[in-house]
Amino acid sequence: ERLANNFQFIDVGRHDPEKKDARLRARDFNEIYASFRPQDASSQAHRCLGCGNPYCEWKCPVHNYIPDWLRLVSEGNILKAAELSHQTNSLPEVCGRVCPQDRLCEGACTLNDGFGAVTIGSVEKYITETAFALGWRPDMSNVRWTSRRVAIVGAGPAGLACADVLVRNGVRPVVYDRHPEIGGLLTFGIPEFKLEKTVMTRRRAIFEDMGVHFHLNSEVGRDVSFTDLIEGYDAVFIGTGTYKSMTGGLPGEELPGVHKALDFLISNVKHRLGLGTDVEYLSMRDKRVVVLGGGDTAMDCTRTAIRQGAASVTCAYRRDEANMPGSRREVKNAREEGVEFSFNRQPIAIEAGADGQVTGVRVVQTRLGSPDAEGRRVAEVIPGSEMVMPADAVIVAFGFQPHDTPWLAEHGIDVDSRGRVVASVQENVGGPLAYQTTNDKVFAGGDMVRGSDLVVTAVHEGRVAASSILDYLKV
Ligand code: FAD
Ligand code: SF4
Repeated sequence: ERLANNFQFIDVGRHDPEKKDARLRARDFNEIYASFRPQDASSQAHRCLGCGNPYCEWKCPVHNYIPDWLRLVSEGNILKAAELSHQTNSLPEVCGRVCPQDRLCEGACTLNDGFGAVTIGSVEKYITETAFALGWRPDMSNVRWTSRRVAIVGAGPAGLACADVLVRNGVRPVVYDRHPEIGGLLTFGIPEFKLEKTVMTRRRAIFEDMGVHFHLNSEVGRDVSFTDLIEGYDAVFIGTGTYKSMTGGLPGEELPGVHKALDFLISNVKHRLGLGTDVEYLSMRDKRVVVLGGGDTAMDCTRTAIRQGAASVTCAYRRDEANMPGSRREVKNAREEGVEFSFNRQPIAIEAGADGQVTGVRVVQTRLGSPDAEGRRVAEVIPGSEMVMPADAVIVAFGFQPHDTPWLAEHGIDVDSRGRVVASVQENVGGPLAYQTTNDKVFAGGDMVRGSDLVVTAVHEGRVAASSILDYLKV
């Protein structure tokens, strides 16, 4: 009996939850993965070897107690698993869905040596989904409330994680966001087929029950002054992300029919959720669409365009497939849904017809040359390889940089040469606390400190910043 259990990873292979057929899923925006059935969650969790020094835990940015909650799931003890998973992660049902697990926890699993990693992300999602369905809610009965209040600017994963830790320690968080709903890029960036919007509306209700207060449709610097927050609260956390879209500097990038990735994704969400008419709906129906870029944002754009009924969708990327920065899983999903890939193509101009409308993207072919100073192989242009990829619409997904935020400098909050807020990632003896900015009363985390990155790293920084705020307030 013991032996059989210990060798479960041989007897039972890795199985991901069921994925909807590509033709069906390309017709709607629903999530493409089903949830585990209880018996599958339990047998998949049981494949964990319980390594003494678990690499998965180290590789997970929030250092989840992975082998411990896998064991609880294999024993059917879901409520205890939910308690444990919330000790380290403020949004486990989100991370379980959208983390690039192949690069993080699952990439570090010992079973990768020929057996297939444990399905850690899907089990993490299963734990919270099942616990919520059973009526489980975070236990706040032992919280001793203080009189302290902290303002949080930005209801993205960094701000929400900070609020979660503060409220569990009896400090009242008041969260300001310019959008009509919480979540930041979880709501107004990542599409529904990866993360259905009800996941965040449910979390909002849970946070509100825990004592987090939200001021939505409130832009700091316009509707509310940052000075008022500094003066009116005991401390402030800022997690306002990075919203300046990087451009390729291409001739024709300003033409009608050329869209920035986030404008396109936000217009789709607002259209689908009926959230305000402040942005025009950018429909790709019946259009030949070319998406420029090779990261996760590019993949989200291609798959959204497919679902809107585009005539064709092609992703043009300047390096080869092996060097794409995005998650392998998302590239595979995009390809299954009908996205074409054109690798080693560098755009040099966007072209228009006599009416000014986009007609195509002029590209040159590249090959990988010798490594640069950092060891990354440089893409070299192949002479005489110019061609035009026909297109009725072009979506530019070259990434994001920090946007200008004038009220930072006005309050002595330094940014570095790339516009990121300067905040020490760890506590320095006698120096600043972790994620404390150059204004002692202000803490910061997430994309605005590290540059655009991941949901789970934003969650981590929001949580660590909250611990620093507790130290600062001597709570
Ligand atoms: P954000 O999520 O950007 O939240 C910042 C919030 O601050 C926003 O709600 C904004 O409205 C608000 N705000 C800004 N300025 C003000 C102001 N002055 N006043 C009030 N509110 C303000 N990561 C993954 O891990 N997996 C993925 O699959 C993934 N897919 C992605 C897809 C897309 C299209 C994009 C763009 C990003 C994706 N990411 C993904 C990255 C991830 O979403 C971000 O790293 C993460 O959301 C950063 O969290 P944050 O809290 O720092 O900022
Ligand atoms: Fe893996 Fe992300 Fe969950 Fe950590 S938070 S265990 S990296 S899915």
